[in-house]
Amino acid sequence: MGYRIPFNRPFFTGAELNNVARALASGDIGGDGPFTKECQQVLQSKFGAQRALLTTSCTAALEMTALLCELKEGDEVIMPSYTFVSTANAFLLRGAKPVFVDIRRDTLNMDESLLVQAITPRTKAIVPVHYAGVACEMDTIVRVARDRGLFVIEDAAQGVNATYKQKYLGTLGDLGTYSFHESKNFACGEGGALLVNKDEFSERAEIIREKGTNRAKFFRGQVDKYTWVDTGSSYVPADVLAAILLAQLKGVDLITQERKRVFNTYRTALQPLADQGLAGLPSIPPHCVSNFHMFYMVLNDLETRSALITHLKREGILSVFHYVPLHTSSVGEQLGYQPGMLPVTEYISDRLLRLPLFAGLTNSEIDNVVEEILSFFSMR
Ligand SMILES: *Cc1c(COP(=O)(O)O)cnc(C)c1O
Repeated sequence: MGYRIPFNRPFFTGAELNNVARALASGDIGGDGPFTKECQQVLQSKFGAQRALLTTSCTAALEMTALLCELKEGDEVIMPSYTFVSTANAFLLRGAKPVFVDIRRDTLNMDESLLVQAITPRTKAIVPVHYAGVACEMDTIVRVARDRGLFVIEDAAQGVNATYKQKYLGTLGDLGTYSFHESKNFACGEGGALLVNKDEFSERAEIIREKGTNRAKFFRGQVDKYTWVDTGSSYVPADVLAAILLAQLKGVDLITQERKRVFNTYRTALQPLADQGLAGLPSIPPHCVSNFHMFYMVLNDLETRSALITHLKREGILSVFHYVPLHTSSVGEQLGYQPGMLPVTEYISDRLLRLPLFAGLTNSEIDNVVEEILSFFSMR
């Protein structure tokens, strides 16, 4: 069904088509071509990543982190339950167990005050997920990890171009992962990146990404033939996708400015609902700069949220809820979790509503969404 105001609409900067044409004409349509190299350069110079490697998705980059940290059967990895399945699957694939902690009521990020009690002798890594493009409390998380020799792997799928204390998300942990999926701020359809912030991971990351071979070294002339040297998989995207991504990465400031306009318009217009206690609105700590990935409302109960979704749908507007907590899913149950164990996560999951937010959403479309929300509440 088509919506008058969709939840998301792809935004193009204008350079995408020409880049794709150039990528195709070059005859160099495999991976690691000139567009991939330039995207990696941009990620390194703009965000201050020590090393950035494009991948086929953020899911793929997360899988690479599990291989790089050599996680195995019996290991435990601490993460929020309020996240996308890939955060957990990457580690489950290696036989490691996801250990879920609850989230904070304000930012909806992993509650760093619950970390220490979740750590056991089997814990190997902590995976903060920067929800909605607002940073987790990285100082505390990194300190807890350093004190105990644990890896920090940032799932910054939603956090590209957002900062924590002036540092870009994805560059604060040992490893960071980005998503360029169509639903994210900067998109090439399907894509991602692994940020390597520790030298010792650099060479193996390159090998794992190239099916476990030293192909990258071969192309640099450092070895005279390439061969199987480690475990790996196929994580290199085609250069045509990088051609699209490069146009998006060059438009980072424009896209962020556009999303900020939408976010701030919603915030101002919906503040009266927050003042009346009818909805919670996003909270951004002063030391964090958001990339405005998402605008959400936290309604007072599930029934109100369902009724508001239905009301907006009837008006041709698509609003959506978000994660079913991983710990209450069927895999979560198999891992030994039960409903009731993570109360904030469950509370938020039942009540959070995401509004249409994308670069190019017009002011009159935003006004229309707001009008319909306000009219919904005035009718009640
Ligand atoms: C989107 C997302 C992913 C997965 O990204 P893909 O590029 O689609 O694999 C992982 N984690 C989080 C938190 C996400 O929002």
